[in-house]
Amino acid sequence: MSGAEGIPLAKPELGEREEELVLEVLRSGRLSLGPVQERFERAFAEWLGAPDAVAVSSGTAALHLGVRRLGWGEGDEVVTTPFSFVASANCLLYEGATPVFADIDPVTLNLDPAAARAAVGERTAGLLPVHIFGYPAALPELTDLAEARGLGILEDACQAPGAVDADGVPVGARGNLACFAFYANKQLTTGEGGVLVPRSADEAAIARSERNQGRALDMDWLDHDRLGFNYRMTELQAAIGVAQLERADELLAQRARVAALYAEALGELGGVPAAPGADLDGLVLPCANRGRERRSWFVYPVRLPLGADRDAVIATLAERGIAAKAYLPCIHLMPHYRERFNFRGGEFPVAEEVAERSLALPFFPAMTEEQVARVSEALAEALAGSWT
Ligand SMILES: *Cc1c(COP(=O)(O)O)cnc(C)c1O
Repeated sequence: MSGAEGIPLAKPELGEREEELVLEVLRSGRLSLGPVQERFERAFAEWLGAPDAVAVSSGTAALHLGVRRLGWGEGDEVVTTPFSFVASANCLLYEGATPVFADIDPVTLNLDPAAARAAVGERTAGLLPVHIFGYPAALPELTDLAEARGLGILEDACQAPGAVDADGVPVGARGNLACFAFYANKQLTTGEGGVLVPRSADEAAIARSERNQGRALDMDWLDHDRLGFNYRMTELQAAIGVAQLERADELLAQRARVAALYAEALGELGGVPAAPGADLDGLVLPCANRGRERRSWFVYPVRLPLGADRDAVIATLAERGIAAKAYLPCIHLMPHYRERFNFRGGEFPVAEEVAERSLALPFFPAMTEEQVARVSEALAEALAGSWT
């Protein structure tokens, strides 16, 4: 590979094993509702350490079915983070529930438990924490809050397969309803796909029915005993997933390796990991693991120094063939949410400030030390010339 070749933002690791299992499915002629989906479900549940996992067509579909299992709907408020991918709030709107945003912790970028507590009111039915950028949300505190106020919890673990929370429990395996996603840029991919981790066998059965047009498992094809959707995962997707799970730990280790390379290279540019009491005005790197918490590396987001012109930085990196993206914008400031709920900006100052400064750099398991160095050097040059 020549040094001048472009560096993409993300790139899935797909190999011979994925090809072999997809070919097997193609040759079997059974493309949906077959044995590979079940095999994927069993393999995922086992890898996670949960009793069961329901495969669906996307992470968003998993979230939607999770919201339905908690019975959240019209008149219910659910406290969640504005600093997330839009699906974690959209899934509430699908069922007529209202997202109530609470600000984030400036170090972990996850829902701040104190802000969440302050946002709980009479109509609050639940909490929807997101393990953003693969860092575990404060589940011990949020669990206490939920128990004290009788709230349900739906965990959006779409960015966090393999993360571990402060109690040492793998994210998604605490016994809450939890969702994972397998879009092509995620740690594990099926192209498109998702999983809902159910709390009971009954809940799993209902989710399996709802993903398949409401058909009960023992019914004929055209009998449907409840409202359902087409949220089925194909056998082709499941085959890719089985192959990915066989080397999940290695894929996660590769990502952690790249993150360590970035931390070192960007540290030399003055980048500082986010930490309580750290100077957060300069170049800020993702926080380090605290206590028993373990991040599952999903992306490599930095906060640019205050006053840096992010668009100019992105343009300078693009000139050098390096992809970078403003990531993430706040959900409450998206047009649909602004109009529907009258958000103006300024309500969630931590999330808004982080959103304005954060930039995702190229990040994928096969990234080389040389590529990380190229990105870091280009970022240094871009920052030097980007002051507004
Ligand atoms: C990827 C993702 C989802 C779900 O995405 P799909 O594209 O529907 O699979 C949900 N929430 C978060 C935080 C995500 O990153």
